[in-house]
Amino acid sequence: MEEDIRKLSKERDRDLSIRECIDRLTGIVDELIEPYKREIEKLCEYNTEKVLKAFIRIGVGEEHLKGTTGYGYNDIARAALEDVYSEVFGAEAAFVRPQLVSGTHAIAACFFGNLRPDDELLFASGKPYDTLLTVIGEHGDATGTLKDFGIKYKEVPLKQDGTIDTEGVLRAISSETKMIAIQRSRGYDLRPSITVEEIGRVTREIKKKNRNIIVFVDNCYGEFAEMFEPTNVGVDLIAGSLIKNPGGGLAPSGGYVCGKRRFVEATAGRVIAPGLGIDTGPMLESPRHLFQGLFLAPHVVAEALKGSLFVSAMFEKLGYEVSPRYCDKRTDIVQTIKFGDKDVLLRFCQEIQKASPIDARVLVVPGDMPGYSDKIIMACGSFIQGASIELSADGPVRPPFVSYFQGGLTQEHVRIATKRALYALLENEVIGKERLLNALE
Ligand SMILES: *Cc1c(COP(=O)(O)O)cnc(C)c1O
Repeated sequence: MEEDIRKLSKERDRDLSIRECIDRLTGIVDELIEPYKREIEKLCEYNTEKVLKAFIRIGVGEEHLKGTTGYGYNDIARAALEDVYSEVFGAEAAFVRPQLVSGTHAIAACFFGNLRPDDELLFASGKPYDTLLTVIGEHGDATGTLKDFGIKYKEVPLKQDGTIDTEGVLRAISSETKMIAIQRSRGYDLRPSITVEEIGRVTREIKKKNRNIIVFVDNCYGEFAEMFEPTNVGVDLIAGSLIKNPGGGLAPSGGYVCGKRRFVEATAGRVIAPGLGIDTGPMLESPRHLFQGLFLAPHVVAEALKGSLFVSAMFEKLGYEVSPRYCDKRTDIVQTIKFGDKDVLLRFCQEIQKASPIDARVLVVPGDMPGYSDKIIMACGSFIQGASIELSADGPVRPPFVSYFQGGLTQEHVRIATKRALYALLENEVIGKERLLNALE
């Protein structure tokens, strides 16, 4: 076969031979990932039924799809949406609002709503996501951070194998530990994401030691990537972004918080005002999008998972370290590709942007982003600004130059964008053609 390819590249123009090689590689990869795609389809059907059942049980009707205004008193759309979320996540209560700007906003609200001066927040999954370090007061201006309010902070690093150091976490608990947080998805870190099973195991150990500690999970990117959610395995409170998984690509903005009623209400009281909390807030024009997005979310997540599977296997074949591997269990939609080379990372993100439906003409370059300490390059040619349930490839511009690749409303888009990016990288000799030839051996 190698002979063939080499002959091809001599006989025909260079352009065609690279394309043909990519086509062959695609064939090999598709065969490899086929059984894992079937698993994702089973997961998708299970989660779709879970969501459908919740819609039926709550009795969502046409009257719930209309927009609401002003204070949002007696907002039936909001009440029905929050009931559906509670049902889907197996939680006592939910706070789901277009006014929550992002995942960071929802998570920060959980911290500020439930922690008081001298309480301690303990992160059990090592260093948290970049923007949360800013919220905690670990970098940047301290004004208004948890630290500024006298809330203590500690973290227990993950073990060498990337799992939670349960013994270490139990040892780190003090009389001041009020909340223990676990970040399910890797964030901008090269560690594996944490499965719901592991989250459940650690939660049980924490509760055995002190049942009053609030176990919180940053659930960003994790929703519908498994059959169960952290709230199904004993976690008290979770939060995430609606422009990631649960918005299904349709939510125009928003965040959610689910869990035990008293913790959800404390969070809502902080976001709005004590006494108003969960009973106020208009849905504006968002109800139909939030309902329909949630209904589509298991499918869209499955499309993103299939896309990640494809990218993972393609780049593994090309000799790059990827995580998760195509054969690994997934608990979120994030895929990392370790390029180890700044130019390859920048060029890859630029090419993904060029293969986006929106703003394909934009050349993305590394820039400063609020809440992040390193420069970030971010390809996100999305319908909803910054929505990373849509195809997005980004990464902090720091060694080992890793691309965090996620989302994709359709797996076809992910496949096409990946092949286009690969073509451009090879054509421009940003990555060597030997990689492609080796992959076909
Ligand atoms: C995306 C994300 C967040 C929140 O980010 P926003 O951009 O504010 O929504 C928090 N934690 C993790 C792990 C994330 O992936």
